[in-house]
Amino acid sequence: MSATILVDLDHLLATPIYDATRCSIGFHPLHGFIPIGIYVLLSFHPKTRYVGLGLVLHMILDSIDCQLTNGIWFQ
Ligand SMILES: [Zn+2]
Repeated sequence: MSATILVDLDHLLATPIYDATRCSIGFHPLHGFIPIGIYVLLSFHPKTRYVGLGLVLHMILDSIDCQLTNGIWFQ
């Protein structure tokens, strides 16, 4: 489950690293709609369920953060 923190490494690839007015969803390479689809699939597979759920949860939290700061769910 803690391995899902690794997905936030792609936040580090962006410049600036943290921008409160930017949506992570749809911006970072691992926060696109195709990766999110893969995370959903992972959460249905018994062996990768916790990693998948953790990643989906991460995307939901990022999306909520985006909604609160920008009024939109994704970029
Ligand atoms: Zn993120």
